[in-house]
Amino acid sequence: MPGFELFGDLERQEVQKVLDSGVLMRYGFDGMRKGHWKARELEKALSERMQTRYAQLLSSGTAALTVAMASAGVGAGDEVILPTFTFVASFESVLALGAVPVLADVDDTLTLDPHSVKQAITSRTRVIMPVHMCGSMADLDALSEIAREHNVLLIEDACQAIGGSYAGKPLGSFGDIGCFSFDYVKTITCGEGGALITNNEAYYHNADHFSDHGHDHTGNDRGAESHPFLGYNYRISELNAAVGVAQVRRLDSFLEIQEKHYRILEQSIRDIPEVTFRRVPEKGIQNYSFLNFFMPTEEIARKAHKALLEAGVDGSFYWFDNNWHYHRKWDHLKNQVSLGKLPQEVRDQLGRTDQQDFSKSDHWMGRTISMLIKIGWSEEEVSSRANRLRKVLKSI
Ligand SMILES: *Cc1c(COP(=O)(O)O)cnc(C)c1O
Repeated sequence: MPGFELFGDLERQEVQKVLDSGVLMRYGFDGMRKGHWKARELEKALSERMQTRYAQLLSSGTAALTVAMASAGVGAGDEVILPTFTFVASFESVLALGAVPVLADVDDTLTLDPHSVKQAITSRTRVIMPVHMCGSMADLDALSEIAREHNVLLIEDACQAIGGSYAGKPLGSFGDIGCFSFDYVKTITCGEGGALITNNEAYYHNADHFSDHGHDHTGNDRGAESHPFLGYNYRISELNAAVGVAQVRRLDSFLEIQEKHYRILEQSIRDIPEVTFRRVPEKGIQNYSFLNFFMPTEEIARKAHKALLEAGVDGSFYWFDNNWHYHRKWDHLKNQVSLGKLPQEVRDQLGRTDQQDFSKSDHWMGRTISMLIKIGWSEEEVSSRANRLRKVLKSI
């Protein structure tokens, strides 16, 4: 998955242009910047690649999620339905707005289970947020139908699946808004950065203003601009954007390598009857950033994960016990441990999380193993890895 593996001259050249101009900020300084607008350039490239009318770059993927919801008017007490298997950024971005994260189960797609989403909907629900974990996507037809029926937003977290698609559309472009992360371990990176994409003009303008203190970005005197509503600073720097300008051009070549390596690993364990694979929805194409499979029981999965580590097959994840990605270790959320007082709405409404039964998620996640696909592997490394993976799993 990581774009940092293939960082080179192209990235250096783009960063050098920014350093030469000396304008490290994305807005203003028109005369000094010698025509370099790296953030704008990356936004244009993203909206073209993702087939949406608009793209807004932001300082991180977490910022993208926050700004996406803020731009669509999500605020205090609004409920956002999230999967039990995701990254902590999902509920952090919700809490940042005083909104309330509501967890729902994942199914054998390792993403939001539409049945569980239906059960989680209340009169306060404003957003359904599928998270396309580990390279593959949620059942977007089913989820968008639920969203339509209940008149709530569908906001896609495509941070781990950039370049994948559903029903012919790039992931992130299917919902009302889609979010990407360009942090250092994502498929393409800016060092730190993120983006939202949308076809909705109002959301885009709100995102553009909100992420820069509410600046309305009219005219060419920043100090004279007005602020139609309250904002915050979620800007990306030109230096970070410059790295992304080079990386986005390489996205499709990264995806090609990722798929090739994925298929070799997958092929090596296909015929092991105890191994089954994560379900990819019928209309979906993965971005192949992880190979995800189920072992027959939780006990066997634990054993397999341990054996893989011992055999030196790195990049294998057992998410069920992971501190960052699965609900079982989110005690800080469940116990509302925050530095300062949380908004009253959050305190009143969050309580439910702790009492919920997530045994359906546990059923799948307890048996799941994911193998990170790297793009920097040599052919030899991939085939030796495939052999070792097969050997370990057969021995279990
Ligand atoms: C990485 C990631 C994020 C957050 O991105 P940052 O840029 O690190 O803030 C959000 N959601 C998912 C699923 C991620 O993997």
